[in-house]
Amino acid sequence: MIKVQNLYKSFGDKEVLTNINQEVNEGEVLVIIGPSGSGKSTLLRCLNLLEVPTSGKIYFKGTEITAKDTKLEEIRQHMGMVFQNFNLFPHLTVMDNITFGPINLKGFTQAQAVELAMDLLQKMGLSDKADVYPSSLSGGQAQRVAIARALAMQPDVMLFDEPTSALDPEMVSEVLAVMKQLALEGMTMVVVTHELGFAREVASRIVFMDAGQLVETGSPEQLLNHPQEARTIEFLSKVL
Ligand code: ADP
Ligand code: MG
Repeated sequence: MIKVQNLYKSFGDKEVLTNINQEVNEGEVLVIIGPSGSGKSTLLRCLNLLEVPTSGKIYFKGTEITAKDTKLEEIRQHMGMVFQNFNLFPHLTVMDNITFGPINLKGFTQAQAVELAMDLLQKMGLSDKADVYPSSLSGGQAQRVAIARALAMQPDVMLFDEPTSALDPEMVSEVLAVMKQLALEGMTMVVVTHELGFAREVASRIVFMDAGQLVETGSPEQLLNHPQEARTIEFLSKVL
């Protein structure tokens, strides 16, 4: 689904991603862990070209999207992204947040988009929230709406950047539960998270990043229970 080859990214003269090579297969859940500032968000943002790589190649479903003639809008439609801070449109109802993309970018009729949105809201346990504005939602509800909004574009892959980091502790599990459900349904996912319980349970593979490098990758069992690299061992000793 996604292939990253020799990816480098610098901001000015500061290199923040160094020679990243990684593949994400269809149906896989790749979890990225690592300390703050290690380049996790930058890597995720490079995958859908919210950041332009300095060099290297990214392939999406076999097409090189780092090529000059790539239609960014089209690529992003196929990659849903969920951020730490929800990023819902504050002046639109929950329903309009979800139907905006399908109507304006995918040519859905209002009726088709509303039907899809109601299905997604039901899946998120939020059927009763269609007509409210984001300001009246809890953080956990807002993040589930953000997930529904991304899914409404019927993406091939979902990218999550610390989706539970801004939530009060009691709301973390409701968001992780819908993400787990999505994974069980076979959605291809790349998830940056500090929730190692989720990673252990849901990840197909875990990648540990430090200082712009992919240090180590493995199954949850390998990476969390039998890390090989000194930097991985040190990081896990602080967070496990
Ligand atoms: P993480 O998500 O792992 O915390 P980031 O990808 O956000 O790490 O950041 C990696 C490094 O890149 C950090 O040193 C950060 O300060 C730097 N960085 C991120 N975005 C920018 C930017 N737009 N301009 C300059 N430096 C940036
Ligand atoms: Mg980050």
